Parts: sequence; C-alpha cells; structure tokens
Amino acid sequence: MALIVQKFGGTSVATSEKILAAARKAIRAHRDGDQVVMVVSAMGKQTDMLVDLAKQISDCPPAREMDMLLSTGEQVSVALMAMAIDSLGFSGVSLTGAQIGIMTDSIHTKARIKSISTDRMQKLLDDGNIVIAAGFQGIDEDFNITTLGRGGSDTTAVALAAVLGAATCEIHTDVDGVYTTDPRVLPEARRVHRISYDEMLELASLGAGVMHNRSIEFAKKYGVAIHVRSSLSDADGTMIVTDPESDQQAVCGAAVTKNEARVTVIGVPDIPGTSWEIFSRIAERNVTVDMIVQNVGAGGKANISFTVPLEELDETKSALRQAVDEVGADSFTCDDQVSKVSAVGLGMAAQTGVADRMFAALSEAGVNIHMITTSEIKISVLVHRDQAQAALRAVHHVFALHEQPAGVESIRSLERGENAVRGDVAAIVADLQGADMEELVINDVSLDGDQARVTIAGVPDQPGVAAQVFQQVAAAGVFVDMIVQSFDGVDGLATLSFTVPRSNLDEATAAAEGLRQQFDGLHITRGAHVAKLSVSGIGLRSHTGVAIRMFRTLSDAGVNVAMINTSEVRVNVVVAGAEGDRALGCLQAAFDAQ
Ligand code: ASP
Ligand code: MG
Repeated sequence: MALIVQKFGGTSVATSEKILAAARKAIRAHRDGDQVVMVVSAMGKQTDMLVDLAKQISDCPPAREMDMLLSTGEQVSVALMAMAIDSLGFSGVSLTGAQIGIMTDSIHTKARIKSISTDRMQKLLDDGNIVIAAGFQGIDEDFNITTLGRGGSDTTAVALAAVLGAATCEIHTDVDGVYTTDPRVLPEARRVHRISYDEMLELASLGAGVMHNRSIEFAKKYGVAIHVRSSLSDADGTMIVTDPESDQQAVCGAAVTKNEARVTVIGVPDIPGTSWEIFSRIAERNVTVDMIVQNVGAGGKANISFTVPLEELDETKSALRQAVDEVGADSFTCDDQVSKVSAVGLGMAAQTGVADRMFAALSEAGVNIHMITTSEIKISVLVHRDQAQAALRAVHHVFALHEQPAGVESIRSLERGENAVRGDVAAIVADLQGADMEELVINDVSLDGDQARVTIAGVPDQPGVAAQVFQQVAAAGVFVDMIVQSFDGVDGLATLSFTVPRSNLDEATAAAEGLRQQFDGLHITRGAHVAKLSVSGIGLRSHTGVAIRMFRTLSDAGVNVAMINTSEVRVNVVVAGAEGDRALGCLQAAFDAQ
C-alpha cells in the first residue's frame, strides 16, 4: 500500500461531469489499495472570474480580502469533490488549507508555505477516507487566509506529497505530459518519459507553462517524484525526477519566448558597482531581467545588454532614464522585435561541442544571433522575432528532440522507485517541520580560479559568425565554459567572450586568431587568468534578487565584474583572477549570513 497525491487542475474539474470523472480516478487508486489525497483547484476559470469581480469593486482591493475571496474557488471544488466521492459509494472528506494546517507567511496573494501538519490528514486516511485538500491556500499565524500565488495548487500538491512521504505526486491536467517543446508551436515535439527537476525548472521559466515553478523547486528540495498526466485518460505521462531521460542526450528540450525586448546600456563606466546600480533600479520596479550580458569593456567603458519581457519594456525604460545618469553611462538602446530561443539539458554540462552544434544549425537556417548567454545546462540566443520559429525548429532538429533516445526506462518502474532516493521518509518529514519549507536554500558558493578568457570584439553581427568561432575552438578540442555575445549597439558589430580552462588558452586564442582570415577589424584580447564565482541553490527563481545580492556584495568589495550569466539554479560571474579568493570570501559571508 502506498500513499499517493492526485492533483486536479481547474480544467480537470471545470464541470460536474469532470468532477465525477476525477472522483472515479481517485476511487480506482483507493480500490487498488493506495491511500489517496486529492488536491483540487478552483473550477475552470473561477479564479479569473473572482479577480474580475474584485476589480469591479475596487482598483486596488486589500490583499487580505483578495485571499479571502480567491480561496472560495477551491472551497467550492473540494466540497463538490467530496460529494462526488460520496455519491459513488465511497467516503471522502474535504479540508481547507486552514483545516489541514498549512501554515504560511503573511504575504497575501503570494504566501510561502512554512509548515504543514499531517496528523489530521493521516488519521482520516487511516480511517479509510479519501482526503480532498483545497489547493492554493493556507493560513498565517493570525488565522488570516492566504493564497500561494496563481497556479499555486501545484505547490500545495507537491508540498503535501513531501510531508506525507507520498510515493508519487500525480498532476492530472489538460495536457498529457511534458514535451520537448510546445507542440502548438512545433507539431514534431515529442512527449518525454522523464525529465529532471533542473531541466524542468529551466523550461518552466522559459514559458513551458506546465507547472507552477515553486512546485518544482519544492519537489527538488524534498525529492518528490511528480507524474504529469492527462486527466482525460489513464495513459502514462511524464515523470519529473532527479535524473534526465537519457544519459547520452545533451539536450532535453527547447523553448522560445516570443515577446522579449533587448536593452543595451552604452558606455557604462567599467568600475565596481555599476551593474548592481543598474539592476537594482530595475528590480525596484519588479521587472524580471534575463540574459544579462556584460562584456569586457574597452577604454574603461563597457556595454551591458539584457532582455526583459516586452510588456515590461516601458517600465524598464523609465528605470533606466534615472539609472543611466546615476552611473554616468552614455545612453541606452532598445529593440522590441526580438525573441529568445533556448536549448536546455543536463547532459550539456558534461559534453563538449553542444553550443557550436546549436550555432551551426542556426547559421544553416540563416538565423542571425543578436546575443548569446550560456549556463551549465542552458544555451539561449536572442534572434529577430520573424526568425524565432525557424530558429526553434533548427534547434529542435539538430538535437534530434523528435526522436526518443535509446534505453529509456518505462515510466512505471520509475514511479514507485524514485521514492527510494528520499531515504528515510520519517526523518525527512521531521526535518521539514523544523524549517520554513520554501526558504531559499543556497547550497554552494564556489570559485573556479583556473579559467582564462578570450574576447573577440568587432565581430560582424550576421548569421554564421558564432558558428565559425566555436567550430574552430571545438576543432582545437577545447572545452568552452561560459559564452556571452553582446550587442554593441554600434555599426552592426558584436563582442563575443568565452572562458576556457587556462591550460587551453593558447589553443583557444589561436582559434580566435584564425578568424582574422575571414573578418577584418577584429580586436582580440585575452585574460590569462580569470576567476569564475558561482552561487547555486534552490529557489533562485522564486526568490529573486540573488543576482542582485551577488552584484552588491562584489560592488561593496570593490571587485569589478567582467562577465555574468544566470540560470534557475546558479548565478555565475567572472572577475579578474587575482580577485578570486577575496571575492569568494565576501560572497560566502554574504550568503551564509542569510
Ligand atoms: N485556482 C488558482 C488559480 O487559478 C490556483 C490553481 O489553479 O492552481 O490560479
Ligand atoms: Mg491552475
């Protein structure tokens, strides 16, 4: 006998028929001998309707009352679900977040879970009931009802699975699993059997809207196996677990974020503190910044480029009008016609030549790359929006994402097996109750002091250039780590920087020098000794500001940042080699202190 959590999203409980169908699924599992906890969302578009209603009354409704209102959606569906179970001859008990004892902080409309009591649920289960928990809601210390943010029922489900030591957390939804890319955009997309937490986190933040991001962070932290599957059938879906689908595959998925905007701040004094100054001005306005590229400066000035969601461009511009003066930069430029195309995969951390395959495919498809950033498990390029679809297809194709990799295990063997990694469930559960469950966890602050940097400025901004550079470097057998390509905002030229192990600096430089035969006016520089500092953890996505805290710490310490990249699980910066140890000490102090 196992305990399972089954979550049903809004579309899966939108009508009375669907509620009855969901109830039958739970009953089937219960009959098979499992203890079943259902987590249910509000019916259909109920939450949207309630939000609308509130807006009709007030432009700015008190957040506490929003939570009081929105939590009613789930209260309706749990009650109906319990009635459905009862009508089918079984016993179900509905519980609100407060009745369960889901304790949260008091940040209304986006509360975080602090602890969950299991006694009441466990007793009801042991007495033979199906427990039906209201998703998305909790209660704070003062008995105020709170909600976890839109889409938060996923987080409730994974959190309950964690504290109850469930074998699996099934997410029953209107799609039948996780795909290599959005099948509505590329019909050749393939449903994957399995995907790792880290890959799912990256893809989710790139707009693969299958699940609430915080729920994946949760699952990773507590080792909860998630099974995303269709509520319309009994077919297997996708398991979200620790390991990727295949060891051999460099890339597991690709994504396009269509509506992005590129911003370049030109002529930023290349001194400590400027990036912190700029990004904290933007963060104050709650704009999410991505693809930050600060390339190595020339003449004491650097250009910093980054992307923001298109709809946040105006807000960003007003932040920048202020920031440009404050830091003494020259000006800024924007491009509102760009899209971001990314490839994600745990395998790329261990394989060479992944980036250059991607760049070659884009070049063959005639796609011009405006900007590049890479992290351990993600490569993102910025392209013109007209070319986004072609770029996505080229990336999907070159990594053969439409084909199932060899040797993939069946999902059934994974489903019950994964829980083994959780070890002693009782110990984990006890552990959980001690801390705030959704607290940011920084698990590593590290220094790689053994890198070197090559920078090629004056690169023509045209298709195929990145491909040529990295093919040359790959041909020399050099493992390239960080890559950034910035947009210089002048004369259609770009600057490409990358880091390699120090011992490979000569080969890498020679490869770069080789490009002089094809392009005039290149300016090649190198940093024979640079240090890469990384802060990694769980919750970097939902606890924004880790990057800013990092910039601030380095700025206070007077350390100049030469290159930056960020991902869901890690923020990396490159600084001068001589500064590495001191910068590491400062970062350790800053992140331990939290
Ligand atoms: N009903 C809430 C929403 O629509 C929570 C959820 O569905 O996960 O955002
Ligand atoms: Mg939902």
